[in-house]
Amino acid sequence: MELTSLTASQIRDLVTHKQVSAEELVRAHLDRIEQKDKEVRAYLTLCPDRALAQAKKTDRLIAAGEPLPPLAGVPAAVKDEIVTRGVRSTCSSRMLENYIPPYDATAVERLEAAGACVLGKTNCDEFAMGSSTENSAFFPTRNPHDLERVPGGSSGGSAAAVAAGLATVALGSDTGGSIRQPAALCGIVGMMGTYGRVSRFGLVAFASSLDHVGPFGRTVRDVALLLETIAGRDPRDSTAADVPVPDYAGALGETVSGLRVGVPNEYFAGLNPQVGDNIQKGIELLAKLGFKVVPISLPHTDYAISTYYIIATAEASSNLARFDGVRYGFRSREYTDLRDLYEKTRDRGFGAEVKRRIMLGTYVLSSGYYDAYYLKAQKVRALIARDFLEAFEDVDVIVTPTSPIPAFKLGERVDDPLQMYLADIYTVTASLAGIPGISVPCGKTKGDPRLPVGMQILAKHFDEVRLLQVAHAFEKAGGFEVA
Ligand code: GLN
Repeated sequence: MELTSLTASQIRDLVTHKQVSAEELVRAHLDRIEQKDKEVRAYLTLCPDRALAQAKKTDRLIAAGEPLPPLAGVPAAVKDEIVTRGVRSTCSSRMLENYIPPYDATAVERLEAAGACVLGKTNCDEFAMGSSTENSAFFPTRNPHDLERVPGGSSGGSAAAVAAGLATVALGSDTGGSIRQPAALCGIVGMMGTYGRVSRFGLVAFASSLDHVGPFGRTVRDVALLLETIAGRDPRDSTAADVPVPDYAGALGETVSGLRVGVPNEYFAGLNPQVGDNIQKGIELLAKLGFKVVPISLPHTDYAISTYYIIATAEASSNLARFDGVRYGFRSREYTDLRDLYEKTRDRGFGAEVKRRIMLGTYVLSSGYYDAYYLKAQKVRALIARDFLEAFEDVDVIVTPTSPIPAFKLGERVDDPLQMYLADIYTVTASLAGIPGISVPCGKTKGDPRLPVGMQILAKHFDEVRLLQVAHAFEKAGGFEVA
């Protein structure tokens, strides 16, 4: 039995029936990381002691015949944007290179309370800004399907870890696509819940009105299991919604054929033809499964990228003001006065993309430009959200490509920020609207190497059950023939 390719639900059965111990599972993953992660470079920091201590706790429960928590023995990875008590949490930035948080994020706390074993912290774009994980201050992560290519981003380390068998499941963060897009490029499942579905406590803030913590897994069921573990009210995050958390995994079996699936025509222009082909076949498969496919229109889609990059940078410029060399994180050693301390610290601590966004965000918030850019973007955001609300009067879910392109080569887009921003063209709309989205594998491209393609499914606010059910039905159908 290959312990590093199991799903979380398989692990639960095996561990419960004493066919494998939690410690064996953790050790098998640590061994594989030692061999494989030299190439993939998904992890920034490992915490083997923490994972093993947690595994031993599970094994003692098993020995005592006690009931097991739902993720007992499941090896997990956590994006370095999410803080972990006593374990270095860098956000892939020099600014936090040596930062050891004194507390755990709520999602991490809940994951461990459910028995998961956190193996380590994964690489990402600096402060989650990027679509390829190349903006990490430390090193890029590589796509396990082709090491010359990016894993997507910003949660590229988490996606690559799950795809390469270096963790069974992982946590990422999604502000404009950072879970869904790398899931698509790495051929796994990744989900962003409704805004407020999962607490952001302990997620280092990038753009607070758009930030989410969410799960990665190899199957829809694993993602459902993880989501129900981490979701729900949290007194430490006032935006974590007080909405009951359904049994997402339990709901997967229900029949959903007959639901109406909307396909927005705006999402098929400028698409890589191979990606387009696969998504088309995916939609045909949904029709065969009994879903009613309905063409729809989301007329403000064209404005999404500019709206997102105004709002996200405005919020980032405010959130990142806290990294001033005084309170925590990196501080420049040379400085003449306080202003010089701020300037040198921020100049040396932040990478190029982070600085670019702070400048852009400061600009759109400055008096004189605020009305023209920031305020206008807020109004357009409302129109984009309204597009979705109107569409959901006629359909139950919406299906689109997750990314316009499959995994691109390392270095191909780094010098062209606009090209990089366009990688999020299909994911930022749901982020702006606050609705949930998932990316599920939808075949591979032709040729060599064959690269994974992801299909995005979107649903109404707090309709994660529907979303997961459709994703599960699609996954269960087992794909389609690629000519
Ligand atoms: N790639 C997008 C950006 O750079 C989204 C990032 C994210 O979701 N964290 O802003």
